[in-house]
Amino acid sequence: MLKLEDRAVHKGQRRALVKTIQQKGIKDPAVLKAMETLPRHFFFDSALHSHAYEDKAFPIGEGQTISQPFTVAYQTELLEVMPGDKILEIGTGSGYQAAILYLLGAEVHSIEYQKKLYEKVRKFLPKLGIDVRFYYGDGTRGLPSAAPFDKIIVTAGAPVVPKELLKQLAVGGILVIPVGDRTTQKMLKLTKKTNKQIIREELDSFAFVPLLGEEGW
Ligand code: SAH
Repeated sequence: MLKLEDRAVHKGQRRALVKTIQQKGIKDPAVLKAMETLPRHFFFDSALHSHAYEDKAFPIGEGQTISQPFTVAYQTELLEVMPGDKILEIGTGSGYQAAILYLLGAEVHSIEYQKKLYEKVRKFLPKLGIDVRFYYGDGTRGLPSAAPFDKIIVTAGAPVVPKELLKQLAVGGILVIPVGDRTTQKMLKLTKKTNKQIIREELDSFAFVPLLGEEGW
């Protein structure tokens, strides 16, 4: 039986976590508020609940992780989410990042490569009242059936920027993706000014699990 209880102690731990993230440089009030609202321990096995409000990545099965809260906040801030934005996420994992985007008012489409994680999350998130469209497959191919997207976020480390993703980004859209080798990556923010002009910003270093698939590892 799934037990979803958000107690005062969790809320207190969440406030402290948000403060830590803020001290690390996250400013966007909407992002901070969404992270203070969403109970991260719901995305953990009950045996690991005590770790849910540490600013750390954690195992979620199938060799994958729920991203570190700071990393979720960092990528989300870069996306400049506006209510109504159509967003594609590559790497659903636990569904936590997708849920944050939903709370910011976006229409979220999220793809996962591991069937078991996909099956788990698509049953679980509706129980929290969170409405995200989930897909099973290789996100390096994007999602042509729902393109173009206002924003695209990749939550696994890529060797290159998959061409399809840039193609499926709307003009004016933003793609946030960590690119590098298998152990460390630089966060890239790509803004599609016109069909021919992409502005590329190279930001901080991170360590994501590898992006698999056709244009992955
Ligand atoms: N956003 C997630 C973080 C998950 S870790 C969260 O909030 O919990 C990265 C995820 O990317 C893993 O679940 C992994 O299975 C998935 N992944 C790796 N390569 C992929 C691909 N080509 N397409 C879709 N998902 C992929």
